Amino acid sequence: TNYLPAEDRYQAIPYRRCGKSGLKLPALSLGLWQNFGDVDLLATGRATLRLAFDRGVTHFDLANNYGPPPGSAELNFGKIMQQDFAPYRDELIISTKAGYGMWDGPYGEWGSRKYLLASLDQSLKRMGLEYVDIFYHHRPDPDTPLEESMGALAHAVRQGKALYVGLSNYPPALAQAAIRLLREMGTPCLIHQPKYSMLVRDPEAGLLEVLAEEGVGCIPFSPLAQGLLSGKYLKGIPDGSRAARDGDSLRPDQVTPALVAQLQSLNEIAQARGQSLAQMALSWLLKDDRVTSVLVGASRPEQLADSLDCLKHLAFSPDELDQIEHILQK
Ligand code: NDP
Repeated sequence: TNYLPAEDRYQAIPYRRCGKSGLKLPALSLGLWQNFGDVDLLATGRATLRLAFDRGVTHFDLANNYGPPPGSAELNFGKIMQQDFAPYRDELIISTKAGYGMWDGPYGEWGSRKYLLASLDQSLKRMGLEYVDIFYHHRPDPDTPLEESMGALAHAVRQGKALYVGLSNYPPALAQAAIRLLREMGTPCLIHQPKYSMLVRDPEAGLLEVLAEEGVGCIPFSPLAQGLLSGKYLKGIPDGSRAARDGDSLRPDQVTPALVAQLQSLNEIAQARGQSLAQMALSWLLKDDRVTSVLVGASRPEQLADSLDCLKHLAFSPDELDQIEHILQK
């Protein structure tokens, strides 16, 4: 390796306690859902990861199915881990998940003990790791007893293959039940990963309250609504953007004129604050201390650098918050 991380990296970003646990996470974390698959340029992903660590981002988030093809993000991350980050394993929080479809047959998705434990073994192999820091159940399974799925997470911790466990996409009441089961099993839930942004407000309807009450951290995903909240869609759909590329996670028809008008108004407030729209969207999530870390994506290192600069202006005046709310209610 010829990578030497920036010596001042731990002065670059605040670390926030994850719920009532002993673990702190950087205010921004980096997700590898997109931009790290075999369809992407590995050199770009590597540069993004290096920039992240240089700026104190100690948490990288993966899942079994990230790519495409599924599994390739973990394989590619494993290569970069070996090349650049192996000496820093103890300075990193690496997460993975299982829950969505990963391999054929009845044991390749959802929430059985069979699937969850096999998938974690596969993930560790792909990444070349002995353990992950956080293992998540990626989505609730309506057909498997909650005891079985939570029992599998607890088992992963006892096996030493995960240090902590988490939940993702669990609605409030089910999250609370799962959190209580995990606590009884002696492997408390560290964190919940919900979709949350200025444009997707669901966690405000009960989930954040449950997490605060139970002492569990929260790490919102798609905080920029996949880039919609970055300002790049204010004048149409630019080449190379997520909405312009293949894949159906963000379709061009989601960029409606009504949405663009809303984004334009938000962008004016951001400019008055001296921020980019992306920066304001991230600061807006971090204003809530129930939010531990915000999980961003980046298709280039420059985007992550831009996003990290949200940290320069985290405070909002009551008036700014009112104006933002007024726009979002339209
Ligand atoms: P974001 O909402 O942060 O969107 C990231 C995308 O927005 C980038 O790939 C880029 O897209 C664009 N972008 C990011 N920063 C900027 C910037 N500063 N300026 C302009 N454009 C920018 O998050 P994701 O949807 O990528 O989700 C983040 C992570 O959350 C995932 O990697 C994954 O780890 C996790 N996640 C978890 C899920 C779950 O079910 N638990 C589901 C989805 C995500 P481009 O340049 O291509 O237009």
